[in-house]
Amino acid sequence: MHPTVIIIGGGASGLAAALAAARGGAKIVVLEKGRSLGRKVLASGGGRCNLSNRDIRPERYHGGNRVFVQSILSGFGAGQAREFFEGLGLMLIEEPDGRVFPRCGRAKAVVDVFHAALNELGVDIRLNTGVKKLERAKGQWKATLDRGEGLAADSVVLCCGGAAHPQLGGGEGGYGLAASLGHSIVPATPALVPLRMKESWVKRLAGIRAEVSLRAESEGRLLSKARGELLFTAYGISGPAALDISREAVLALAHGSVACSLDLFPEFSEERLLEFLKKRAAGLGRRTLKGFLTGMLPDTLPDVFLERHGFSAHERAEALKEAGLLRLCRALKDWRFELAGPRPWQEAMASAGGVSLSEVDPRTLESKKAPRLFLAGELLDVDGDSGGFSLHFAWASGLLAGAAASRK
Ligand SMILES: Cc1cc2nc3c(=O)[nH]c(=O)nc-3n(C[C@H](O)[C@H](O)[C@H](O)COP(=O)(O)OP(=O)(O)OC[C@H]3O[C@@H](n4cnc5c(N)ncnc54)[C@H](O)[C@@H]3O)c2cc1C
Repeated sequence: MHPTVIIIGGGASGLAAALAAARGGAKIVVLEKGRSLGRKVLASGGGRCNLSNRDIRPERYHGGNRVFVQSILSGFGAGQAREFFEGLGLMLIEEPDGRVFPRCGRAKAVVDVFHAALNELGVDIRLNTGVKKLERAKGQWKATLDRGEGLAADSVVLCCGGAAHPQLGGGEGGYGLAASLGHSIVPATPALVPLRMKESWVKRLAGIRAEVSLRAESEGRLLSKARGELLFTAYGISGPAALDISREAVLALAHGSVACSLDLFPEFSEERLLEFLKKRAAGLGRRTLKGFLTGMLPDTLPDVFLERHGFSAHERAEALKEAGLLRLCRALKDWRFELAGPRPWQEAMASAGGVSLSEVDPRTLESKKAPRLFLAGELLDVDGDSGGFSLHFAWASGLLAGAAASRK
């Protein structure tokens, strides 16, 4: 007799868990509180779904325990993800920076191929069906639904996700279910979240993008650094570079102040940039400083940058001389500002924290607190960098937990 398995949550990890459990021969029911499957998958990657990355490795993940993450990724790395999705019928493309997307450019295709495979395997999918309570009695699990009905099964896979984006199903309910069964929860904080700045000058830069390197520091200690696109917004910073430093910045902001250092020319060392500026001044020195920076920096960035660093935008570049050019060079490579805090959960793409990894078996993702309870996805105390790492972990952990849950 094959076991019966309840999958709670029809997001990324729940879809993967349902598929693996059904392929293992179990009888599956997926309970999803929302109106559709994979709501975050549909919204991911700006509607294109950045579902994995060429550079999958434990160092791209944060949270409780990298050895734990390594154990999960060892069975499902970048190559296996490609084979898995191609096996589901999804054609992929890899962008030059390593991010992997459906070739058709539509996140919906990802949910559609799962849906087709789950239908072929006869999986029972129940939408608008939230679980409010889980209990174990006489060797069986009982899930009590929001509307009061009870459902029994041999195994349960908890795939309720994290607290980010409550408008797409995020919340702390999954942590509550896990805690009710004896699990400890590392408090959730927003990760991959835009950051507010203390200074108001940033408003004037809203909408400007630049390729930068960004460091977050607290009391002279480096918290995190990232290189990539930065988007200035009316409140502060967003875009991949800001999202990638946000996790550590948000944790540190809870205890003190956090400063950012922005390098507008990360591809140049300070010496090379200075050389470049000297040559440029030799050719274009008669221009005002604003004109001198036009063509190096986008849009209104030169105005705000010069003002913030005490340069006159109307001064001629040649008036700077060597010491002035060095000061300009250093400012371009180390523009400092203070962070005020994260944007709200509604804007976070992931949550740091979750179910403590020491209470879960990394080989099967079975709970060490309750038998035949499996946990997967963002509910666990693991979060990835931006670039497809979160979804990759959701697939990897969902497949592992689902397969284990289907074994008697
Ligand atoms: C806007 C946005 C864009 C993103 N873009 C990317 C990207 O491009 N690449 C990337 O790697 N990651 C991205 N992420 C992160 C990624 O979507 C998540 O890490 C991933 O979806 C987590 O999968 P999960 O299965 O753990 O949780 P989810 O996908 O959140 O699924 C959990 C599901 O469980 C349901 N649920 C919760 N509690 C219950 C309950 N009690 N009963 C029944 N159902 C319940 C929820 O409704 C939800 O559908 C993005 C996230 C957001 C919000």
